[in-house]
Amino acid sequence: MPDGRDAAHSGPTENALSGPTEKCGVVGVSLAERDAARPLYYSLYALQHRGQESAGIVTHDGFQQHSHVEMGLVGDAFDEADIEGLRGSAGIGHVRYPTAGSVDKSCAQPFTVSFKSGALGLSHNGNLVNADDVRDRLAGMGHAFTSDGDTEVIAHDLARNLLESDLVRAVKRTMGRIHGSYSLTIMHDDTVLGVRDPEGNRPLCIGELEDGYVLASESAAIDTLDGELVRDVRPGELVVLQPGGDGFDSYQLFERENTAHCFFEHVYFARPDSVIDENLVYEVRRELGRSLWDESGIDTDVVMPVPDSGRAFASGYAEAAQEAEAGVEFAEGLMKNRYVGRTFIMPTQGERERAVRLKLNPIKSTVKGKTVTLIDDSIVRGTTSTQLVGLLKDCGAEEVHMRIGAPPIVAPCYMGINMATREELIAADKSVEEIRDAIDADSLAYLSTQAVADAIGRSRADLCMGCVTGEYPYDIDGEETDREVSRPEIAETAGADD
Ligand code: AMP
Repeated sequence: MPDGRDAAHSGPTENALSGPTEKCGVVGVSLAERDAARPLYYSLYALQHRGQESAGIVTHDGFQQHSHVEMGLVGDAFDEADIEGLRGSAGIGHVRYPTAGSVDKSCAQPFTVSFKSGALGLSHNGNLVNADDVRDRLAGMGHAFTSDGDTEVIAHDLARNLLESDLVRAVKRTMGRIHGSYSLTIMHDDTVLGVRDPEGNRPLCIGELEDGYVLASESAAIDTLDGELVRDVRPGELVVLQPGGDGFDSYQLFERENTAHCFFEHVYFARPDSVIDENLVYEVRRELGRSLWDESGIDTDVVMPVPDSGRAFASGYAEAAQEAEAGVEFAEGLMKNRYVGRTFIMPTQGERERAVRLKLNPIKSTVKGKTVTLIDDSIVRGTTSTQLVGLLKDCGAEEVHMRIGAPPIVAPCYMGINMATREELIAADKSVEEIRDAIDADSLAYLSTQAVADAIGRSRADLCMGCVTGEYPYDIDGEETDREVSRPEIAETAGADD
């Protein structure tokens, strides 16, 4: 499974990460009167690209929780009766990203737990670095865990804190103990909360609906509900949606000098129609494409995207090329079969190669006899680019030049995006020229880290670029950090570390 455990051989110790990494979409809704289930369901649909392994919704009707969590896509996980059964005007939802190999319902979310002072539901996007430390401490105090996921650790810690403190203080205590990446939607009885880690690694935003408020990983979910994006949840902020949908309260619980927004959200992961940290993802990708032309443009007959994310890059690239009076034309040369899921997580290399071929097919007339620039957002293992360069050449392309809208991925992601292990990452031990040779392209160029930061409109110091620099903004066993960070000391007894 492409998470931190696999990477243990190449640096981090076995417990650098605990459990499966969570790369997901989260949502929370609080409304005046109508049931929250349907808006939650539509939001999960809008966030489907963030996770296809499982989908779940938990609501609260003022008396009790109702939960439905299933493996599979949102459209398959719920039928009409399931949605009808999810009573109550408050709720949270979750879609979980697939990880190769283990398909395990115990990791599906929202995670729920009932305890003395109420019912708790949690949806988590991100990944904790010190979940094992916190779990050991809680296990020592008698907590029993049903999964090895880090979300359950957060839920138990919060449940325990809620026995002795009010909601805001309890969340603050938990945030003071956990270290890593987390955008959370939480439901405590019928109160819905949103929490973003102090570095703001994963996105989370607030939207206003006619009759209430919504929290979602991406603003596209708010658009789907005909809502208005209010703003991002700030790094280190707790947002409490008032029951009844009247408004929300904000508590800035932690503040850091620098943020660590994940640049890969902008490059690949998020929907192009989402606004993340005040930037429309589509425009950032077009700007990345323009920068690719500025840094390594080549005057071929056509520029062709690897769909879907490559499209905005190629359109920016073509525009910049035309401004420079080069004759590069934008061409849709690869058609995507939209019914093939993510090829990335197929367990064997053979299956991954077959899946790329199933997924993408060239339009021969736009390729034959042409010199082609092919643009993708990233090269991870190199499977996609090797396959596509070969395919375009088989279709009669005279030259194929590969341009990538991000720097080489040289290290794993510990913060919640499903990357390969160092061993599998083609750029971990190969130069750009060696990679060009391996994928058999006529030329290959990546984008610089500075161009990425400029396109996103953030300083380098406010981005997490661990996967392209090998230096992380969190304290991860066996890895370098790019700033002064350390994990919280975990005290032996409850309350002692407040
Ligand atoms: P690879 O074929 O292993 O080199 O992977 C590169 C391709 O996978 C590119 O087309 C990317 O758009 C896509 N990709 C990159 N990162 C991920 C990820 N974390 N999950 C799924 N697909 C990805």
